[in-house]
Amino acid sequence: MSDQKLHIESRLAQIGSVEEPVTGAVNYPIYQATAFRHPRLGQSTGFDYSRTKSPTRKVLEDAAAALESGDAGFACSSGMAALQTIFTLFSQGDHLIVSLDLYGGTYRLIERILGKYGITASYVDTNDLDALEQVRQPNTKALIIETPTNPLMMITDIESACTWAKRHGILTVVDNTLMTPYFQRPLELGADIVIHSASKYLGGHNDVLAGLIVTKGKELSDEIAFLHNSIGAVLSPSDSYQLMRGMKTLALRMDRHEANALAIAKHLDAHPEIAEVFHPGLPDHPGYDIQSRQSSGNTGIFSFKVRDARFVEPILRSLNLIAFAESLGGVESLMTYPAVQTHADIPLEIREAVGVDDRLLRFSVGVEHVDDLIADLDQAIEAARVEIEGGQE
Ligand SMILES: *Cc1c(COP(=O)(O)O)cnc(C)c1O
Repeated sequence: MSDQKLHIESRLAQIGSVEEPVTGAVNYPIYQATAFRHPRLGQSTGFDYSRTKSPTRKVLEDAAAALESGDAGFACSSGMAALQTIFTLFSQGDHLIVSLDLYGGTYRLIERILGKYGITASYVDTNDLDALEQVRQPNTKALIIETPTNPLMMITDIESACTWAKRHGILTVVDNTLMTPYFQRPLELGADIVIHSASKYLGGHNDVLAGLIVTKGKELSDEIAFLHNSIGAVLSPSDSYQLMRGMKTLALRMDRHEANALAIAKHLDAHPEIAEVFHPGLPDHPGYDIQSRQSSGNTGIFSFKVRDARFVEPILRSLNLIAFAESLGGVESLMTYPAVQTHADIPLEIREAVGVDDRLLRFSVGVEHVDDLIADLDQAIEAARVEIEGGQE
């Protein structure tokens, strides 16, 4: 599995498949043990206590590290647990620079929890080097990037942001949840740490909550290993198995998510009731060129604005195939209303400054047939139009 010469599709399909030498089982087993016998005093099988290291989790962690071209992987009980483990690198008085249009839970963690420990943050467009320079302080320790951002799909040039950060001795952390290593590998572009909410595309079936951290370099890997063990927000053996099971089909799913999302984005872009579509695979998107250069594809989520905010409620009520639900990255299509759901914890003025307003819907496009998805959207938009404006064209 760790054979880096193989294509990523082959490495994904074979996660854990050659790791079990005793029986040759092609799926790595769930080792439901917290304690491991020592052969004798001063000896260890490599496993002592499962918070520190656990066999099933280790196969997942090694796979994650290899897929992201990193040196070490760490599986956590959720994406937020992974972020909290990373943030524990920082101390009172440290300052962070963070992408403006940020996942709401990350914003909440920084503002409501890190703030209590004297860690501050500035939120900017991380693709704007002048803006980065403007908010940089002598105590700035890290640059936290989401690209694309969610829900507005703003793109950051990872390589130039990392070059800027390195020049100032600042650590770069990239949340690669939306892209996955199948489409984008930030460590190859100069980042120090990659974090995933594996609850999304990596798991892929809306049935496992998990987070992953992948680090570059021995010193940083050792530091995160210490924090991962000390904090203890680690992934269970059965969830580790469930996640690997999902990751085996990542390439197939991402190809379908990408194709469906792009086709639907183009359809909505030409729809009279839709005011704006935010998808970095559309040539008029401001991040199109950077995205094409640094990634080999596009994620399966995008967002769009309806012409009139009154359309939102009847559209959500009229959808049949597409579920009105939070989260993203699963095989089932989900529609979210960011202003009142995922981004409710972000203050109104910040939300409106970036454009997360009451006309914005986010669509996590699943792997259903694209014609069925388009038909469902069209009928829901038409139902909303009739309800708001009456039957006449
Ligand atoms: C969902 C998400 C998280 C949080 O992950 P959980 O697994 O829900 O804890 C962090 N970052 C991004 C971009 C996400 O989409």
